[in-house]
Amino acid sequence: MRVLMIAPPGAGKGTQGALIAARFDIPHIATGELLRGHVARRTTLGQAVQTYLDRGELVPDQVVLDMVREAMVAAKAAGGGYVLDGIPRNMQQARATYLIGRELEMTADVALHLQAGDAELMRRLLARAALEHRSDDTPDIIAQRLALYHEVTSPIISWYRDRGILVSVDAMRSAQQVGREILAALDRSTTWLGAPRVASRAASASRMTRAQRSASGIRS
Ligand code: ADP
Repeated sequence: MRVLMIAPPGAGKGTQGALIAARFDIPHIATGELLRGHVARRTTLGQAVQTYLDRGELVPDQVVLDMVREAMVAAKAAGGGYVLDGIPRNMQQARATYLIGRELEMTADVALHLQAGDAELMRRLLARAALEHRSDDTPDIIAQRLALYHEVTSPIISWYRDRGILVSVDAMRSAQQVGREILAALDRSTTWLGAPRVASRAASASRMTRAQRSASGIRS
């Protein structure tokens, strides 16, 4: 199972990414976590990216792409599955991630889109701020991260829709409910993945769309 997640901050990428990783026994590659790890360890890379994280800005594409390539090579050695969390975040990253996947013969099977409204996301992130003290969970920086999501990340969703691998899930419910729905949608997708390769893109896209609708029962 090869999944990439596209979701605004606070939608639950981290929680659901861990769930997917456990369910399919695949590595959870979370770019934000990897970057925060570098900052905490004060590596050269960490020192170079800290300001971007603190300001809620995207770190330069090449930094993240190099990190992800390395993690994907390791994922290939570990069996070939993965769940990507935090990348792609813009169109260049989407194309580059696809090219890395092609080169390693492990392009994503499913692009999982978690949908949630800004007011709810702000509420969740401020609640998390009280517990986790992440440097970027302040009202101003959260607003900046949400704006960036709408501006540069959400436009890539249609690219995955066109490729026929988009699955959208309503993330405005409890983590448990969202998790159940994601696993059900991914379990259904393993049926399409097992389907003969001759199935046309259009046919698989229409199957995806049906599944997406039944998976979410929401705005799509
Ligand atoms: P969130 O989705 O809540 O913003 P993440 O942990 O995914 O949290 O990301 C935290 C920060 O890490 C981002 O605001 C950004 O600075 C940096 N980051 C993570 N992934 C990427 C990426 N793919 N490209 C550029 N910057 C990234």
